[in-house]
Amino acid sequence: MIAVTGATGHLGQLVIDELITRGVPAGEIVAAVRSPEKAAGLAERGVQVRRADYNEPESLAAALAGAEKVLLISGSEVGQRVPQHRNVIEAAKAAGVRLLAYTGILNADVTETRLADEHKATEAIIRESGVPFAFLRNAFYFEVYSANFPAALEHGALVDAVGDAQLSVATRSDFAAAAAVVLTTEGHENKVYELGGEPAFTMAELAAELTRQSGRTVVYNNLTVPEYAGFLASVGLPQVIADIFADASGGASRGDGFTNSGDLSRLLGRPTTPLADAVAAALKDLG
Ligand code: NAP
Repeated sequence: MIAVTGATGHLGQLVIDELITRGVPAGEIVAAVRSPEKAAGLAERGVQVRRADYNEPESLAAALAGAEKVLLISGSEVGQRVPQHRNVIEAAKAAGVRLLAYTGILNADVTETRLADEHKATEAIIRESGVPFAFLRNAFYFEVYSANFPAALEHGALVDAVGDAQLSVATRSDFAAAAAVVLTTEGHENKVYELGGEPAFTMAELAAELTRQSGRTVVYNNLTVPEYAGFLASVGLPQVIADIFADASGGASRGDGFTNSGDLSRLLGRPTTPLADAVAAALKDLG
C-alpha cells in the first residue's frame, strides 16, 4: 500500500493520478488528508481516503497503518511544519514503512534561505529516524510563476528579485510524475534527488516567452529583496510570509534555484516539460 499525505493539495492530486496511471490499483492507494470531505472524488475512484492531520498524531497512526511506502508532502503552514512533519515521520516509523519519500527544497544542503530551514530540519529528523528515505528536493514550481501571468499581462511586467539567475523551474505535473516513479519502482532508499527542469531559464527569458506567445509585451522587473518583500505585502501576502518568499528569491539570485543534476528527467525517463509548452498550457487555461 502507498500512502500520500496532503493528497487533496495540487501536488498530491497529481501524484495520485500518476500512481493510477502507472497501474497501482486505486484500492492500494491511501489518500491521507486533513479534510476527507475534499476527497470525495478520490473515494469515488476507489482510493482509500483516511483522515490525517499533521497536528494530530493519532490520526496519522491510523492513516499510515499498513502502508509500505509513504510520500510526505510538505505542509503549507510555514512556521509550523517541523513539529507537523515530525508527527508524520514518527507515524511512518511506527507503521514500519520501507520507504518515506519527502518533498523538500532544491539545494537543501547549501541554501541559507529561511524557507529552507523547515525542510532541512525535516530531512534531519527523517535521517535520525532510521526509516529508509528518498528526498525529492523540488525546485520552484512553474505554477508559482504562471499564477502571476494575469497580472503580468495586465501591467506588462513580471516582478521578482532573482536577478539574472538561472532557474531550474519545472511543472508540478513533472514533479508529481517523478514522485510516482520513486513510489512505484525500486532502488530509491536513502537517495537524494535534486529535481529541476531542463534547460533552466531566467526571468527575462520567461518574460520573453510570455511576450512571444501572448502578443503582449511583458518585461522582467527586478527588485531588491526588501523592495520585493514590500511588493508581495502590497499585493496581499502577510508581511512575515512576504519576507520569507522575498528571501527565497534572494537565495535564487545566488543560485539556489538552479541544478544541473539531471535527476528529474532521469527519473521521468523523458525530457522535462519545455518552457514553451508550459507557457502555452498556462495561457490556454487563462482562456
Ligand atoms: P497545496 O495545494 O497548498 O497543498 C498543501 C497540502 O498540504 C494540502 O492538501 C493541505 O490540506 C495539506 N496540509 C496543510 N496543512 C496540513 C495539516 N496540518 N495536516 C494535513 N495536511 C495538511 O500545495 P501544493 O502546490 O500541493 O504543494 C505541496 C507542498 O509543496 C506545499 O505544501 C509546500 O510545502 C510546497 N510548495 C512548494 C512550492 C515550490 O515552488 N516548490 C511552491 C508552493 C508550495 P488541505 O487540502 O486540507 O488544505
